[in-house]
Amino acid sequence: MTFPTATISISALQHNFARVKHYAPKSKVMSVIKADAYGHGVIAVAEALKQSDAFAVARLSEAVSLRDHGVTLPIVILEGVNTADDFQLAAEFNLSPVIHLSSQVDLLSSITLIQPLRFNWIMVDSGMHRLGIRPEDIETALSRLKVSGNMNDEFGLMSHFANSDLVGDIRNQHQLEHMLSLKEKTGLPVCLSNSAAVLAYPESHLDWVRPGLMLYGISPFAETTSAEHGLLPVMQLTTRLISTYDLNTGEQVGYGGDWTAKQPSRIGVASIGYGDGYSRHLSNQSEVVIQGQRCPVIGRISMDTICINLTDCIQANVGDEVLLWGRSELMVEEIANYAGTIPYELVTVLSKRVNRDVKDG
Ligand SMILES: *Cc1c(COP(=O)(O)O)cnc(C)c1O
Repeated sequence: MTFPTATISISALQHNFARVKHYAPKSKVMSVIKADAYGHGVIAVAEALKQSDAFAVARLSEAVSLRDHGVTLPIVILEGVNTADDFQLAAEFNLSPVIHLSSQVDLLSSITLIQPLRFNWIMVDSGMHRLGIRPEDIETALSRLKVSGNMNDEFGLMSHFANSDLVGDIRNQHQLEHMLSLKEKTGLPVCLSNSAAVLAYPESHLDWVRPGLMLYGISPFAETTSAEHGLLPVMQLTTRLISTYDLNTGEQVGYGGDWTAKQPSRIGVASIGYGDGYSRHLSNQSEVVIQGQRCPVIGRISMDTICINLTDCIQANVGDEVLLWGRSELMVEEIANYAGTIPYELVTVLSKRVNRDVKDG
């Protein structure tokens, strides 16, 4: 028996995809499956989400790997590429690198690809100031790309919100206005909304939506749970208790002796640690569920193990399942809060040592 295990529910994934369609019924869906589908295992996720109209990943290598595994849907490379060789590779594998920089336009104007790129997206910097071409330079870029002969005539405009998790923030409105004005000028389809905007900003849905996190059943908002949006957690992270023992008052647990028994205590050790991606920031901060009961994580997180206070869960035994996150009694959003980070980080940093177990399909 291998543990820790991230159990991936295909039916939950498909349920959440249906929620995207529910929120944005008129938009096409570009499912974001970068970073190994947010740590969920990209091949199984791509297979489960083949009703998508397209996929998006961050990097060329992620896209090539999907093609190698037989994925035939359009695949957008959100970071784009910057060399002639990489553009050739993209053309060869029928991939769609986003154009976000004028030097990419220069490069495409100076080379001849083995075949024109298809399903082309230009990233507009509508206010986030990360990747993108400024709105006033879009029409020039577009006409240069058209004459380059290296792209067919399927073009769209993409942009990304910097503050979509802040519902009602005026900066979202400003970004949307830039995109609406470009849509009117160029007549091109627009793709703008990430999960938070899909859930809370219907005016921004437009032609294409681009959700990631919500597909995995996680809320992008600090103040709402995934259940409130009708989403189901896709990943359940579990491991096993590998030891239980008793401590006397005053005895300390783990590196640095960061936890001291204030009374006679029962302690458990579970097999997971920062070497699996269970954040060290959870030292003395987190909780787990054993036999349906919540128990505090105590002391420092080690590379391979965590210590748990079992004093109120005295019936727990070696071999018992330990839930780290992913059921309604303990969601990853809560654990992210304890770690002082966002759930995106917790799921994407799970290491290879965590077994992925795909269920129901
Ligand atoms: C990761 C990413 C998304 C998906 O965002 P979620 O918040 O996970 O829905 C969409 N667009 C871009 C450009 C991204 O980098």
